Amino acid sequence: MEKVLEKPLKPYVGRLAPSPTGALHLGNARTFMIAWLRARSLGGKIVLRMEDLDHPRDKPGAAAGAIEDLKWLGFDWDEEYVQSRRKDMYRGALEILKSKTAGDGGALVYPCACSRRDVENAQSAPHAGEQLRYGGVCRGRFPDWEAAVEAKGGGTPCWRFRVQEGATVGFDDVFAGRFEQDVFSTLGDFPLARDEGGAGYTLAVVVDDASMGVSEVVRGDDLMPATPAQILLQRALGLPTPAYCHVPLVVGRDGRRLAKRHGDTRISTFRASGKAPEEVIGMLGASCAWCGVGERVSLPELLPRFDLGTVPHHPFMI
Ligand code: GLU
Repeated sequence: MEKVLEKPLKPYVGRLAPSPTGALHLGNARTFMIAWLRARSLGGKIVLRMEDLDHPRDKPGAAAGAIEDLKWLGFDWDEEYVQSRRKDMYRGALEILKSKTAGDGGALVYPCACSRRDVENAQSAPHAGEQLRYGGVCRGRFPDWEAAVEAKGGGTPCWRFRVQEGATVGFDDVFAGRFEQDVFSTLGDFPLARDEGGAGYTLAVVVDDASMGVSEVVRGDDLMPATPAQILLQRALGLPTPAYCHVPLVVGRDGRRLAKRHGDTRISTFRASGKAPEEVIGMLGASCAWCGVGERVSLPELLPRFDLGTVPHHPFMI
């Protein structure tokens, strides 16, 4: 009986969620490799979700390029979604939040007429160091959206989620272990949408993970600090919290997240230079101790060798 209870009650659904803000590079590919192997080794389903809500940072052609690169590397998936075609769902979730009150009777979300910078940043996943705390200047300041528009001199306000003081959220990460965060003092009232009916990263990701039935989120550990806000939002919307599995990033020699300054690590460049996908997967697989350095191996060939337990707990430096 106990053994039966240990099995996941729901089928495993994982996801690959690229952002078309640039070309797919080795760092994205390694995280996706772990996510794909984790899902497939558990007999699970995989959803590919293009996270393209960050205009104008999204690059033309990057979404198609990412899909091409993923297919070349040997990835497959069962369902495909594009966030920019799902805005009605996000709008619906925002409407639900607008109709709710917080524990103290105050509104759960409120219009904010402050600077655009952090709101614009909120369109994309806040990778390490990109989270800004909001002090709550516009909390309770406007009776409605129109009043905030007026205060902005006709500009567009945003919607913020009101975080209760002392709201500490913790979760047991499948890979990284326990993580706790005081969301109020770390983030404060985080932005949900940069206009009346839009959606930023946090709202979209929460709605999507739930509506796509994602049972476990495997992603880079620089998004660990973004998770508690997502959990608060899930709770406010009455949505389930998936399991989380945050894995270390690929970094350059300076220890920083892979970027242009580290040279060309784009998958499309490896492809154009005549490298085989098995060489790229082999190199990434070796970083997790699933194959030897220099071994050529395909993604399906790694399946029987997959073991989350051998993935190092430090970043992979290239
Ligand atoms: N689309 C995000 C990124 O590529 C990932 C977001 C997530 O996994 O929640 O940065």
